Amino acid sequence: NQRIVLASRPVGAPTAANFRLENVAKPVAAEGQVLLRNIYLSLDPYMRGRMSDSKSYADPVAIDDVMVGGAVCQVEVSNHPDYEVGEWVLSYQAGWQQYAVTDGQDLVKLGKQPTLPSYALGILGMPGFTAYVGLLDIGAPKAGETVVVAAATGPVGATVGQIAKIKGCRAIGIAGGAEKCRHAVEVLGFDACIDHKAPDFAEQLAAACNDGIDVYFENVGGKVFDAVMPLLNDHARIPLCGLVSQYNATELPAGPDRMGSLMVQLLVKRIKVQGFIIFDGNQHRYPAFAKDMQQWLSEGKIQYREQLEQGLENAPQQLINLLEGKNFGKVVIQVNQP
Ligand code: NDP
Repeated sequence: NQRIVLASRPVGAPTAANFRLENVAKPVAAEGQVLLRNIYLSLDPYMRGRMSDSKSYADPVAIDDVMVGGAVCQVEVSNHPDYEVGEWVLSYQAGWQQYAVTDGQDLVKLGKQPTLPSYALGILGMPGFTAYVGLLDIGAPKAGETVVVAAATGPVGATVGQIAKIKGCRAIGIAGGAEKCRHAVEVLGFDACIDHKAPDFAEQLAAACNDGIDVYFENVGGKVFDAVMPLLNDHARIPLCGLVSQYNATELPAGPDRMGSLMVQLLVKRIKVQGFIIFDGNQHRYPAFAKDMQQWLSEGKIQYREQLEQGLENAPQQLINLLEGKNFGKVVIQVNQP
């Protein structure tokens, strides 16, 4: 039974030395518990936050504890009346390990033979739900409006852009590199996608948004937000979902201090900015999301790209890559065979 624990807290970008791979005895399910065989482990940007002990909306991982993570698992042993051996479940407490025991409180049933079990970590799970709630409930896009989203080929951004298209909006993506931008337009159906690494990124974004921006779904912050801000229309909405460009930062960006001009823009343009954490207070929206997303997938209105990697030992490097934009699609690690 392999597991990966947090060996030390990163300063800046995480390195391999912040993680430790251990071989430990397989845990044993007591009465009322199930033993989970983790099959697919999800890697997500929030994990960088849990490696730090600065105050946040969730507790940090303790040093020497198993890294936190959601996984799609099969029940290997059941001493719990509600779970049968072989059935598939989703757990957000399964963590970076091959086996976990649980009393079942954290489990979501996925059935005996789900067709695409790993989708529960992406388009049909937390990232897809984040895109749905953030865009529809906070962004409130109207047909004909311009919606902009960065990290446009990741599980959240790709879904935001495609839902925006379904709702009749113009969807403009921002992504790192020509290949991701091409994918956003040709496969995901964005109207345009701008490479944030291009030297004239801000000018290209302005040209693509000739009617301004009505909804900016914020995933990254930093220089992307700097380029977006002057393009925001009166009454624009900003669902503040993530700031991945800042997660490895050790200090505030170099001056000048733009806080004053930002506040003036928010005031005079009457812009709404709303931060949200998907696990907090949105559960009532889950049935609508599940119904709509299943339908959109079955109708081919939503495309989904997954980057499947083999072996738990590769999880640290894949998380490091994700935070640097070296992933392409939803990163899932296969830690056991089904
Ligand atoms: P992604 O798979 O899209 O991975 C992150 C992407 O961010 C990278 O691939 C990269 O894409 C982009 N990125 C990284 N660094 C930079 C940078 N310096 N400048 C611009 N872009 C950068 O992640 P997810 O879809 O899982 O998550 C997207 C965002 O949503 C994250 O901020 C995450 O924290 C947030 N989130 C928030 C939730 C909530 O409840 N509020 C829930 C789930 C996710 P590229 O190469 O295209 O630039």
